Amino acid sequence: MEIIGLTIDRLHGALRTRATSVTEVCRRTLERIEALDPRLGAFLIVNRDQALRRAEELDRDLARGEPLRPLTGVPVAIKDNICTRGLRTTCASKILSNFIPPYHATAVERMLEAGALIIGKTNCDEFAMGSSNENSAFGVVRNPWNAERVPGGSSGGSGAAVAADLCVVALGSDTGGSVRLPAAFCGVVGLKPTYGRVSRYGLVAYGSSLDQIGPITKTVADAARVLRVIAGRDPRDSTSSNHPVPDYPAALAGELKGVRLGVPREYFGPGLDEEVRAAVWQAIHRFADLGAEIVEVQLPHTEYAIACYYIIATAEASSNLARYDGVRYGYRALGAKTLREMYRRTRNEGFGAEVKRRIMLGTYVLSAGYYDAYYLKALKVRTLIERDFREAFTRCDLIVGPTSPTVAFRLGEKTADPLAMYLSDIYTIMANLAGIPAISIPVGLSREGLPIGLQLHARHFEEATLLRAAHAYERAFPFSHKPPL
Ligand code: GLN
Repeated sequence: MEIIGLTIDRLHGALRTRATSVTEVCRRTLERIEALDPRLGAFLIVNRDQALRRAEELDRDLARGEPLRPLTGVPVAIKDNICTRGLRTTCASKILSNFIPPYHATAVERMLEAGALIIGKTNCDEFAMGSSNENSAFGVVRNPWNAERVPGGSSGGSGAAVAADLCVVALGSDTGGSVRLPAAFCGVVGLKPTYGRVSRYGLVAYGSSLDQIGPITKTVADAARVLRVIAGRDPRDSTSSNHPVPDYPAALAGELKGVRLGVPREYFGPGLDEEVRAAVWQAIHRFADLGAEIVEVQLPHTEYAIACYYIIATAEASSNLARYDGVRYGYRALGAKTLREMYRRTRNEGFGAEVKRRIMLGTYVLSAGYYDAYYLKALKVRTLIERDFREAFTRCDLIVGPTSPTVAFRLGEKTADPLAMYLSDIYTIMANLAGIPAISIPVGLSREGLPIGLQLHARHFEEATLLRAAHAYERAFPFSHKPPL
């Protein structure tokens, strides 16, 4: 049977009836990666031998009559800034090119306990800093829909791998949109959970007050399944929440009737591509047809979000990246005569241009004399943005808008202009600043055949509402297009 392109549910159906085996799934997936990934560049490492060994083990378990666990035999790709024990984790940076973590990230550990098959590590922007995957030290990723276009970033390899059926599910990380933007550009589903919903233990820190791990999947139901596995309190991450983890897959059932869908005017202003605007509005009307009540809301501080985010994220990054000093692990420049020279050369040779730009920006906004003017002010604006959402959520249950102002842009189109690149995050960074969950689902194709993403936001810890609405839409208006591979 054709096992490529299946969702978790279908795959499990096939495993249950013995129409296929985990080993067959694993082999077919590895073959497909071998055939297609040289063109795409989605994987930095393919976990071939380990995956095959594990597949055989899982088959033995099944043969012994063990029941399927939530992710048994599901080929999963992991963004390369999420630690995997014994499997190189580079953050797509030269400075970690030789780093083999001695432990698994909690999210990875939980996926393994749930039976997942780790098929490889995916390419991304260096340290997750970027919106196009062009900042990787190990090459760009190409969009499966059009090889001249970016897959979105920073989890570009994860987005491309899911879209091209090189895995069933991928994990990404989202500090300012890095799960949702690639999902939108690649025509798949991307979920950023509430801050604290998923443990950050083992996720290499970028902006610690913004970072969350999230699933990239083909369907909303699969996102619910993965979230159910990875969510929950972890004693190793003190910012993880002990808010109970609902049965997300069970929560998918239900209607949209009575759900109030807020449309913020600020998300449809200048800079929004006409085709994206039209597709998102068509989808909003469809939500209304399904019974949602459309209300207008306001998020008046949206215009300050980019400035606010790029101060807070770079400030935190400059501090988090101080640990790469060539002493304990990672790359070290050889031949330096003094400690200082070793530090300087290690960091100069190890980090790419965008990472250096962020460290300099972050160091500047935290420096004496500028701290109040930039960092402290940005924190205040962040509070105003949180308040905008709190206010809006008194009038609606979900907030809808585009995921990105444009469809996937051309490789190289924005690399010379960092500000233009930062502007592609305009709609995604708000959720990170406010700490709320948001999901991107595909709702159409542009005239040029590129996917268009719609984004939904919910209140803190209301992933179930978010998933239910997205699922209702997907059921009624399935996105059945496939990239021309
Ligand atoms: N594009 C944003 C940035 O470069 C977001 C990246 C992310 O979510 N990791 O910071």
